[in-house]
Amino acid sequence: MLYPVELRVQNCRTQAYQFLRVAGTASIQNLAYTFRVISPRFGIRVLQSWLGVTLLTCSALAAPVSAPSVILITVDTTRADRMGFLGSQRGLTPNLDSLAKQSVVFSRAYSQVPLTSPSHATILTGTYPQFNRVNDFGMPLAETLPYLPKVLHDHGYKTAAFIGSVILDPKSGASPGFDRGFDEYDTGFASTGDRYQVYEHRAADVVSHAVDWLKAHPRSACFVWIHLFDPHAPYEPPEPYKSRYAANLYDGEIAYTDAALGTLLEQLKKQTLFDGSLIAVMSDHGEAFGEHGERNHGIFLYDETIHVPLLIKLPGQRFAGTRVDQRASLVDIMPTILQALSIPIPKSVQGKSLMALMTPSVPGASQRKPEDRSSYAETDYPYRDFGWSSLRSLRSDKYLYVEAPRKELYDQTADPQAAHDLSKQSPAITQTLASQLTALRRGTENTTKAPESAMNPALGQKLAALGYVSSGSVVAGASNENRADPKDKIEIANLVQEALLARESGHLQDATSALEKALSHDPGNAVVNRNLGTIWVDQQDYARALPYLRKAVELSPNTAMDRYNLGLAYLSSGNTEDAKTELEAAVAKSTSENSQSLGNLHYTLAAAYSRLGRADDAKREMRKSLALQPDDYESNLVMGQMLAQDDPNAAIPYLQKASKVQPTSPDPHILLFQIYTALGQATSAAKERTEAERLQQAGK
Ligand SMILES: [Zn+2]
Repeated sequence: MLYPVELRVQNCRTQAYQFLRVAGTASIQNLAYTFRVISPRFGIRVLQSWLGVTLLTCSALAAPVSAPSVILITVDTTRADRMGFLGSQRGLTPNLDSLAKQSVVFSRAYSQVPLTSPSHATILTGTYPQFNRVNDFGMPLAETLPYLPKVLHDHGYKTAAFIGSVILDPKSGASPGFDRGFDEYDTGFASTGDRYQVYEHRAADVVSHAVDWLKAHPRSACFVWIHLFDPHAPYEPPEPYKSRYAANLYDGEIAYTDAALGTLLEQLKKQTLFDGSLIAVMSDHGEAFGEHGERNHGIFLYDETIHVPLLIKLPGQRFAGTRVDQRASLVDIMPTILQALSIPIPKSVQGKSLMALMTPSVPGASQRKPEDRSSYAETDYPYRDFGWSSLRSLRSDKYLYVEAPRKELYDQTADPQAAHDLSKQSPAITQTLASQLTALRRGTENTTKAPESAMNPALGQKLAALGYVSSGSVVAGASNENRADPKDKIEIANLVQEALLARESGHLQDATSALEKALSHDPGNAVVNRNLGTIWVDQQDYARALPYLRKAVELSPNTAMDRYNLGLAYLSSGNTEDAKTELEAAVAKSTSENSQSLGNLHYTLAAAYSRLGRADDAKREMRKSLALQPDDYESNLVMGQMLAQDDPNAAIPYLQKASKVQPTSPDPHILLFQIYTALGQATSAAKERTEAERLQQAGK
């Protein structure tokens, strides 16, 4: 007799791994296409946008073929100072440098959030994080927000996204709502395989999917978003970049990504799409290599993670070679693209089109003083996931102001590295910028109730594989005024990130020693305790895991994920009574709206009840799991098994469903064989037995 509940609990590698069951979608499509050369897409629409004339748009109709296509390329984690077109001598970006010659280059472009999904939300909605509320992983992009893909789709554009990281996969729960307005949202992350199948895709693969799609849509006005994740940690470029850049693998990732973009640009030219299209290239945020003590990104708001590359090639290479030195922000991208296409900008958009900055001054016209645009940035990551203070910053005039428990002020013209804090010697300027920042936030914030995070254990595990901490709820800690200044804690964030990446690569010794080091600095850190606990759960060493997991729950009692981790460790170590208590708490505390995540909680609680002999409670929880995830293989299988004895006829449909969901598994057929045998239905029993044996043979 099978005991799938037990098997699944015993076999689990970690609390989260066992639930890593997000169905992979096969994204590689055999797109049949004919290669048709069409004339450059350079027509009336572009001319009208040049003349500042707005077309009467008819959203129900397809965009005219002559409408310029838009190719939006976001290269993750890419520092501005690695770009040849921004002065880098490293020679990493020949393709982007060549594109830059045909584009308008922004030398001072700034991200609004140093994190992937929040920054992309800003780019694609043209709104600030305090308005769009996508300020962490798992925060849903509300339907009421203006959204570039949706606006373009409504104007007849064919829309497609090609995504390089699971962070931007709505199906994973990390970025719910990001697929709105897209005809195609190509993620294709598998549930098993290496990291380039499960967590990220190589640039060449993403580009190849995009190229296939473009070839299949030769006559349409398109909006194509291409997201390339390679420069993000871990730095592992493929050969020959791995050898060539062995001394600086991050640079190797950038060189590799640039080469992949070269392929894309070549294809656009081949399809005569290049000249008529608007091509915008930017990074969502940069990367720190120890500047200000930070490694990676997410905690601080200095230039190493906030200053980003940005170039915009307008249709017909309009204004090619222009360099804009005024400050620009990623929140300005959406209104810029819409203005360039002569499409009305939705009223709720908060960014400001950059078109006016791109227009070269007319000879003879009176010299206008360049407009100073301030740029706002923020990060809630230190607060939401570590319990420290959030940070906000404002770049205005020549200053960078950072709002933190200990405020900072830098003169960016004299001190581009932001090494000399002037806040003490210039309190009046500090105060002025603080007031400006408050006014900007007040004028742009959203006062409606924030949506719930879609964070779940499986997603937490995926984010951990990319070096991020995430719990789906704010870590309990000091009150607002007394929260730690991230400046005092940055090494802990570094060590945790290092540990998460080491763990993902299987270097558990490195992971535990980094976390133990972090714990010696800060014994009361919930994140560190949680991660040490789950590493020992991984090793099935529950005696070592439990003190850390108990501490994490003590520090963060309202975090469903911590209650769940502890419950699972108890369940795995045979302490079913305590497991039941923690899992009941996890169900009660969960704010997740993700049906799979909630379903898994009920599934695990069913396992605890089942072990305690509380069959009715177990069935009730399993019904809840099935209501949330009717196609879940294990829930159907276990439900069938639980019903087999008392109500065999009721068990049959669940097992048939399980066999449909996983047609290669012999288990449902073994159970069906047993049930039909007990019911005296010899023919059906024989059929199931044959099928079970066939599948067992095939699986060997
Ligand atoms: Zn990113």
